[in-house]
Amino acid sequence: MKYTPETNSPADADQRKEIEPVICYPVDTLPPPDLSLYKTARQAMEKIETIVVPPRDGRCFDVPAGHFFRIISSEGPQVGDLNLWSRANPSEKFFSGKTRALHGTHISTGDQMWSSLPHMRPMATVTHDTLDWYGWDEFGGSVHDVIGTRCDPYTARLLGGVDYHHCCHSNLTRALSAHLGKDLHDAELLVHDVLNVFMCTGFTLDTHQYFMKASPVRPGDFIEFIAEIDLIGGLSACPGGDCSASHSSDVAACYPLVVEIWKPDPALMAGWMPAHPSGYDRTHGV
Ligand SMILES: [Zn+2]
Repeated sequence: MKYTPETNSPADADQRKEIEPVICYPVDTLPPPDLSLYKTARQAMEKIETIVVPPRDGRCFDVPAGHFFRIISSEGPQVGDLNLWSRANPSEKFFSGKTRALHGTHISTGDQMWSSLPHMRPMATVTHDTLDWYGWDEFGGSVHDVIGTRCDPYTARLLGGVDYHHCCHSNLTRALSAHLGKDLHDAELLVHDVLNVFMCTGFTLDTHQYFMKASPVRPGDFIEFIAEIDLIGGLSACPGGDCSASHSSDVAACYPLVVEIWKPDPALMAGWMPAHPSGYDRTHGV
């Protein structure tokens, strides 16, 4: 936040401020996903697994490379916090910050979820989004953000709240610990900044603070991805429910989320290859 300035403006302040911005990472040279292939493949899929994520809890699931997965709103408006890990090496995980730098603050069909350095490859591509009609609202808000981090007991304590064990951070920690048979504290270190599925967020126009508002999601809405590598997904049904008022408590109305894993017709995916890790040689100038 910017408080009342203590420094006088320099004589050329206006000239400095009126310089036009440039995009940090223009994406014209980013290799595009083959969306027409994905569009064709998703027409002939077989559902092979359904996972129900209970309210205020988390679950992990495996998605083989080249399979699709959907996150579905079931009984009521509910937001979800999504983590992704490489099945082969869970220390390769979703890189929310770089995804934001490449695709903007909110993602939808055609955008990709990138993995952490030094791997830096697409982990998943959004192939369908029933909330893509929302666009941007008058407050600068939109859905499916890569701005937020995940609700967690540490920040709640910092801000004077009581210890609450069903924040998304703890839900994802318990879910990954159970899925991998890993010690709780080891699993916690693999939990990372999320994709806020169905959450409606933005930055306030005056103070530029992170805001949330009631999610426009309704039962039946879904966001769908294709796994670009073998994945473990982790999803928490946030204790904030639709995130219209609060989180980190048992106050909000919460609903389950459903994850479906879909297998496309292998004939339609012939020739498709999982994403390769970055080709950078990691010599770093040495
Ligand atoms: Zn949460």
